[in-house]
Amino acid sequence: AAKAAGKSAYRRCTQGLRESAVSRAELIADLRRAVDEKQLHLEFQPIVDLATGAVRSAEALVRWRHPRLGVLSPARFLPLAEETGLILPIDRWVIHEACRAAATWQDHVPSATVAVNIAASHLRRPDLIATVTEATAGAGLAPRALTLELTESALIEGSDAVLDRLRQLRELGIRIAIDDFGTGYSSLSYLHRIPATELKIDRSFVARIPEDTRAYATVEMVTRLAGAFDLSVVAEGVETKRQHEAVVAIGCLQGQGYRYGRPTGLAELRTVLVKADPPEVSGVAESGLTL
Ligand code: C2E
Ligand code: MG
Ligand code: MG
Ligand code: MG
Repeated sequence: AAKAAGKSAYRRCTQGLRESAVSRAELIADLRRAVDEKQLHLEFQPIVDLATGAVRSAEALVRWRHPRLGVLSPARFLPLAEETGLILPIDRWVIHEACRAAATWQDHVPSATVAVNIAASHLRRPDLIATVTEATAGAGLAPRALTLELTESALIEGSDAVLDRLRQLRELGIRIAIDDFGTGYSSLSYLHRIPATELKIDRSFVARIPEDTRAYATVEMVTRLAGAFDLSVVAEGVETKRQHEAVVAIGCLQGQGYRYGRPTGLAELRTVLVKADPPEVSGVAESGLTL
């Protein structure tokens, strides 16, 4: 399967090359150097506890400061990284960097946690476990303070080996979120098999509430489903007051989106965490949102 995937990636790659030979080949060469030359950096977007307004978690999002093209978003270079396999060193760097960041937040807010996105190809690799273990241990971060975000499609194509790996990660204490939930072609039966701890409702649904009754029903259903499966749930892409009020009315307990904060630098995120950390920890623990 890995070989076939590699072949189709190669085909996609050469197809693209024919379209724009120079820039594409150049970009790949540039990307190959990006990690070593420290051109990548992380931004962190707050994840808000909607009951208290507290921020104790953030999602790490990678950016590439290209020497000539300026700062590139993941959409610009991650597809290329996936096709060339360069996603692996990038993801590894992200995991290490995010763990180090969370460890510094914990100096101020002991319950702080961080989420990182994991590429499908990375999930297929047995060494993901070693990478994650080294990163948390190296940073002095408890494994339960790290969430791996996986897309539905990455999980669906997952073999038994992938499911095994997810179980091992859970046994270590690592949390598993299903990202962009609702956008994959999954049957609900896979939710029974995947040892997830969290669902992130895709922002395409959140963007259309409260007006669009179908989107509203979808957010409602996913939130209820999460409750029944004892999973945390995060509404992604909350931009407006009305969307915020809608997700709160639905009973979704966590939110993420421009309404609460854009992805931001490490230092700025730390001030958000400190400002919003509630003085009373008891009620927060009961809501089951933190770890
Ligand atoms: P994602 O994991 O679903 O991350 C959320 C994306 O939505 C981020 O885009 C974020 O900036 C954006 N977003 C957050 N709130 C709002 C909002 O209110 N409105 C709108 N319109 N957008 C919002 P970003 O940073 O461009 O990342 C895009 C995708 O790239 C991510 O989607 C994730 O799948 C992938 N990605 C990002 N960083 C990494 C990484 O380090 N490794 C891997 N493998 N994938 C990554
Ligand atoms: Mg994500
Ligand atoms: Mg998402
Ligand atoms: Mg997304």
